[in-house]
Amino acid sequence: MQTHIESLRTAPLAPFLHIIDGRRVAASDGGTMTVISPIDGSALTTYARGTKADTDAAIAAARRAFDDGRWSDLAPAVRKKVLLKWADLIEADALAIAVLGVRENGTEIGMALKAEPLSAVATIRYYAEAIDKLYGEIAPTDPAFLGLVHREPVGVVGAIVPWNFPLMIGAWKFAAALAAGCTMVLKPAETACLTLVRVAELGLEAGLPPGVFNVVTGEGAVVGAAIAESMDVDVLVFTGSGGTGRRLLEAAARSNLKRVYLELGGKSPNIIFADAPDLDEAAKVSAQGIFRNSGQVCIAGSRILVERSIHAAFVEKLSKHAAAIKVGDPLDGTTQAGAINSERQLMQNLAFVEEAKANGRSVIGGERILQETGGYYMQPAIVADAAPQDRVFRDEVFGPVLTVTPFDTEAEAVALANDTAYGLAAAVWTSNLSRAHRMVRKIRAGLVHVNTYGGSDLSVPLGGVKQSGNGHDKSLHAFDKFLDLKTAWVKL
Ligand code: NAD
Repeated sequence: MQTHIESLRTAPLAPFLHIIDGRRVAASDGGTMTVISPIDGSALTTYARGTKADTDAAIAAARRAFDDGRWSDLAPAVRKKVLLKWADLIEADALAIAVLGVRENGTEIGMALKAEPLSAVATIRYYAEAIDKLYGEIAPTDPAFLGLVHREPVGVVGAIVPWNFPLMIGAWKFAAALAAGCTMVLKPAETACLTLVRVAELGLEAGLPPGVFNVVTGEGAVVGAAIAESMDVDVLVFTGSGGTGRRLLEAAARSNLKRVYLELGGKSPNIIFADAPDLDEAAKVSAQGIFRNSGQVCIAGSRILVERSIHAAFVEKLSKHAAAIKVGDPLDGTTQAGAINSERQLMQNLAFVEEAKANGRSVIGGERILQETGGYYMQPAIVADAAPQDRVFRDEVFGPVLTVTPFDTEAEAVALANDTAYGLAAAVWTSNLSRAHRMVRKIRAGLVHVNTYGGSDLSVPLGGVKQSGNGHDKSLHAFDKFLDLKTAWVKL
């Protein structure tokens, strides 16, 4: 496989264009943006810098495609056939798509292959297979009446996605929405859009009718804002930062009150009790739970809370596992943590580390490395004695920076875990079954792991509480965002 990767590593890339109404189109004013590879800082290619006019054209195409029923009126089994063909085409091209994504966003290739094209394939198949198994309801009414509950596609969906795992997160949204019969305008992140454009091209090849799935590239403040302000977008689904989420809610309020579903950040606590079944395993999995994809994972377990009696020993185990992580060229199959997505993100990560040091915290690792490559790399960092008031304990870094904080009692562990504005993920490591269940109930998060971290399945929902957002991706619950209930009340 490495030989194949090497041949793809330097493959020249033609400029990428929008996919609007079934066609590849340039920006209406001819504008482009340059893709800088985080692997070595080189310019890879360009993509269309979308304008408001481009975005409105895509929304109009999606509106027409929805309203004339070219997709929503097809029998679910027919939509399924197109979607399954699309999944097959992506699967056949998976390695090339994965390498394209890595060149653009720096994720290590092993993870990128599995978590990006192959995850999108699995997601498309999951929702394609589900769509002809969803039934409406007959309500238990007075027999003089018939109450039918229909499930109808919501219409035009706008999707705005981030730069980490663009295909996985994108597919959680577009696969469920399109399977449900909606049409979509998707806006990828500025530093991770090429694979989504490529996948949209394959969608056309698979037989998606024009206008059903449109991808408009460009800046959030232009393309994303135009989607959020549109009177013709019925539902907006978003994964990204809380700041952008707030803007989208405001735009929805100013425009057509479109429903807005937000998947935002996290500062997820990972709680280690001294009675964890295997502390070595806990340290290893916890290190992976923050350092894979260089911490650029929304559910990353970025705050370890550890019982005081094992604090020092656990930090030592964590440092051993962190030091063993091979950081470097993401296209080398043996690399375990690739590049940081952008220079800006790298500088932000390093600033958190410097601030912790300046506050007198004990910091292991956290240096910039491999600067001579021109790329953006850093060693995993562990802040071994972070206090709850520290910014690094409270704010999402979105990089390979882990804090460790000791606690004395179960109640204190719960209080520290919940001492955050976020509520996306958490974990608890213990051999005590009763305690495990108590903790699951008391921790305010959408996902609580027990004796593991990360790894999941499409069959379970992912979504946050508090300022980590609302609504769910994955599982059949994801359809709730894309299917409206309609009642038919019939006098018999
Ligand atoms: P971001 O909010 O800056 O950008 C996300 C998307 O929003 C991008 O496509 C961007 O172009 C667009 N955008 C930016 N400004 C906009 C505006 N004014 N109007 C409309 N769209 C706009 O976030 P990011 O830096 O790309 O992603 C990192 C964040 O995403 C982190 O906070 C991370 O935790 C979060 N995230 C959450 C999940 C989850 O499932 N909860 C998953 C992955 C990432």
